[in-house]
Amino acid sequence: MSDNKIELTGVDRLHNPLYNHGTAFTEAERDAYKLRGLLPPRVFSAEQQAERSLANYRRKPSDLEKYIYLIGLEDRNETLFYRLVTDNLEEMMPIIYTPTVGKACQEYAHIFRRPRGLYVSANDKGRIAEVLSHWPHDDVDVIVVTDGERILGLGDLGANGMGIPVGKLSLYTACAGINPAKTLPITLDVGTENGKFLADPLYIGLPQRRLRGEVFDELIDEFMTAVYERYPNAMVQFEDFANINAFRLLHKYRNQYCTFNDDIQGTASVTLSGIYSALRLSGGKLAEQKLLFLGAGEAGIGIADLIVSAMMDEGLTEAEARQRCWFVDSRGLVESSRTDLAVHKRPYAHDFAPQKDLLAAVQALEPTGIIGVSGRGGMFTQPIVEAMAALNEQPIVFALSNPTANSECTAEEAYRWSGGRAIFASGSPFNPVNFNGKTYVPGQGNNSYIFPGVGLGVVAVKAKHVTDEMFMAAARTLASLVKEDDLAQGRVYPSLQRIREVSAAIGTAVAEIAFAKGLARIERPENLPAFIEAQMYQPVYEDTL
Ligand code: NAD
Repeated sequence: MSDNKIELTGVDRLHNPLYNHGTAFTEAERDAYKLRGLLPPRVFSAEQQAERSLANYRRKPSDLEKYIYLIGLEDRNETLFYRLVTDNLEEMMPIIYTPTVGKACQEYAHIFRRPRGLYVSANDKGRIAEVLSHWPHDDVDVIVVTDGERILGLGDLGANGMGIPVGKLSLYTACAGINPAKTLPITLDVGTENGKFLADPLYIGLPQRRLRGEVFDELIDEFMTAVYERYPNAMVQFEDFANINAFRLLHKYRNQYCTFNDDIQGTASVTLSGIYSALRLSGGKLAEQKLLFLGAGEAGIGIADLIVSAMMDEGLTEAEARQRCWFVDSRGLVESSRTDLAVHKRPYAHDFAPQKDLLAAVQALEPTGIIGVSGRGGMFTQPIVEAMAALNEQPIVFALSNPTANSECTAEEAYRWSGGRAIFASGSPFNPVNFNGKTYVPGQGNNSYIFPGVGLGVVAVKAKHVTDEMFMAAARTLASLVKEDDLAQGRVYPSLQRIREVSAAIGTAVAEIAFAKGLARIERPENLPAFIEAQMYQPVYEDTL
């Protein structure tokens, strides 16, 4: 494939999604690119194309069919795809990302049409650089990589996990204008433990059990080395790795390369932002909060770690800050007498009497907020929410588990059981709730508020690393964009319709940190916000003549 826009003519141009304009090629372009006869004669505008595509999309009978339609459009004409998705983001985000992308990954082998992204498999050990050299673009800004072991809440989907990096990178472009030609989705196929897939003759990955231990680590090391040899300025986002690898790999590589883990750090930032907004409503300081988490996995520990950093910024010592974050896991309160705790939970195992469950822990600890990241639906029961409302004028109740059925409680339950006093946010969207004559608009703590803007800032200044300070700045920036009107309705995040404005502001804040900490690899432009905005890809046909 050639990157030369003029050289591509005839069907080669029509079949290149980056340069294809379909029926919107003008008369002059049809002459220049030898397209006459290869397209129906009538020239359409981009608006008319988008209108036709939207109608086609809405006619699809199921969400999975809508997903397949959108991926097909992305394969044919990326500009049109991004125009459609950007203009209809609230409608299409649940299709290109959670929850539909999860369903798509489960069915990936059976809906497979043409490959997207790059597959690096266990068989490629020793030749990963060669595999990477096959990617046709020399300039890559953002890589999202998964090994498919813990896809959303769906478990091990092996090589079928490719839908995740593909979808996530679509969001980078739609939400923050990362140039799609400079994105690279990668799936590391290191096997799967999914018995159904291993037995499925149509499964697209290696039909073998997962690599573990040293061989796995060596493969990842070779992969990272090869990536940075070919793309020294790229940012690598780790996505949907299992706990056993996610924390380890983050700590191993975060100070060596430009890398982060969205499940841990992106989630942390969006949640911290929700708490900052909640404090604008309830009027406390972060350092005065006591937060109790249900679920001590990547999301929970990631959130607590960032909150600890943010509390230290307000003057607490690390030990004092940790004492304000508590966890209940499937075996009860995480406390120091327990001998069954994974390494990542131990910093939060404080000296305290064992508590068998969340209700007991709420009563004993008297937290100001509860944060549900257990992946288990219905765990914030009526007695628990009532206890929180008895302890606090405005309790923070964040039910972040996805999809909707796994939410620890519904928006309606949180408002009703707290007499309308809970400050509620969720992982999956809930409709507005009417309670006692007031309409509440629940906020959705969607990671898409954070990672695209962070990526934009990092890429724009070619930052060497992605730091916790950047995620703290992103959280503060996002909270600062919540309007008084939003807060009056109980909403702790801005409308998703403002996502490009949000991403530009976060990109600027992140770039500012990179300059302040000496992590940027470019000269500081005079007008940073204008510079960041100018980097943002717009889904419009480029005039190449
Ligand atoms: P994870 O698998 O790493 O962690 C889940 C944790 O919950 C584990 O420690 C598990 O032991 C614990 N758990 C399971 N059952 C429990 C029970 N009955 N009581 C208490 N704890 C229990 O997963 P994760 O990445 O931490 O994600 C957890 C949930 O958070 C998922 O549902 C995910 O969709 C959601 N999430 C939301 C957002 C968001 O809202 N932006 C972002 C990331 C994850």
